[in-house]
Amino acid sequence: MNFLSKEIIKALQVATGRSCANLHEPVFFGDELINLKECIDSTFVSSVGKFVDQFEIDLAEYVGSKYAVAVVNGTAALHIALKLVGVQEGDEVLVPALTFAATANAVKYCNAIPHFVDSDFETLGIDVISLSNYLEGHTFQKSGFCVNRKTGKIIRAIVPMHTFGHPVDLDLLLILSKKFNITLVEDAAESLGSFYKGKHTGTFGKVGILSFNGNKIITAGGGGAILTDDEVIAARAKHLTTTAKVKHPWEFIHDEVAYNYRMPNLNASVGCAQLKSISRILSLKRKLFERYKEAFGGIESVKLFEEPNNCSSNYWLNTLILDPNYATERDLILTDTNEAGFMTRPAWNLLSSLPHFRECPKMELTKSELLVKTIINIPSGPDLLC
Ligand SMILES: *Cc1c(COP(=O)(O)O)cnc(C)c1O
Repeated sequence: MNFLSKEIIKALQVATGRSCANLHEPVFFGDELINLKECIDSTFVSSVGKFVDQFEIDLAEYVGSKYAVAVVNGTAALHIALKLVGVQEGDEVLVPALTFAATANAVKYCNAIPHFVDSDFETLGIDVISLSNYLEGHTFQKSGFCVNRKTGKIIRAIVPMHTFGHPVDLDLLLILSKKFNITLVEDAAESLGSFYKGKHTGTFGKVGILSFNGNKIITAGGGGAILTDDEVIAARAKHLTTTAKVKHPWEFIHDEVAYNYRMPNLNASVGCAQLKSISRILSLKRKLFERYKEAFGGIESVKLFEEPNNCSSNYWLNTLILDPNYATERDLILTDTNEAGFMTRPAWNLLSSLPHFRECPKMELTKSELLVKTIINIPSGPDLLC
């Protein structure tokens, strides 16, 4: 076996105190079953019910946004978030190349065009400085919009993603958004419980989104949410995700083509219970990170990624970064660790390399290309220390 693999497996065993572990498992130590039973007994298992309302209230309170609209999943939340800020057919939307497919898929759902940008080594999210220089040289302003010089299209929005839970540099992004007239929409699917300078991720942009898929920091079985401080946008989010049905005692009036994206009450009942456990989950995840830090401290050729300055990260997925000299051994390490019982994963392939996104505009992606070759995610579930 590869020498580095051996050292990594040993560190995984020491830190977790286990001989095998999955990448991320949910934990249910609250009222999940009680809420589910109450939900079923009420017969309101579907698109309306008290848990949906409660979940929206609790979420908004936790993240500190005025409104939260619960939906079926994070991808649907992203789709609607882009529509809410006016992304239209033919527009371009800046998204990191290093993200989960959903971020760019949502742009496509709007018949808009993902425009891929680079990520940096400090946050694993959008490299704002490089992007700013790129926009300086490749765009011009026209009637209050940012236009791509080469394509002539409006760059309507920018969607930073808080990679593995680590906040991007939001101060710089807010400046960039203002300077270039590009609306900020945050993909905070991975970062519930992560704060930038004390403010929750997903609440900096005009709109932000969360995900409650089974592998995320808390789960509703499946689900997502749209966050905003704007009352009009929140009302429109609800309208667009509930088939644009106009309130009426019996008539079916829908005032536009819209979506059936609402979160079922059954899912919300689990979500409510999970949200109550979030601080316990966060502290378990921080503790696991500390253990990893100690265990990996002695291995020279890998670095355990730490939360950026001024941030409190949820440490959703712990991340090893290989010394670039060992990048060629990534696949071997992945094979060895998985065979040894520890589920490890590489980062996503850059979206710009997928066939259906290959023609999309992009800046130089030098850092993302190196990150893809050197990132290894290691087991991170809160269950590991339970
Ligand atoms: C999980 C995730 C999503 C999508 O969330 P779903 O609820 O699975 O649809 C979107 N963006 C990122 C970055 C994610 O990790």
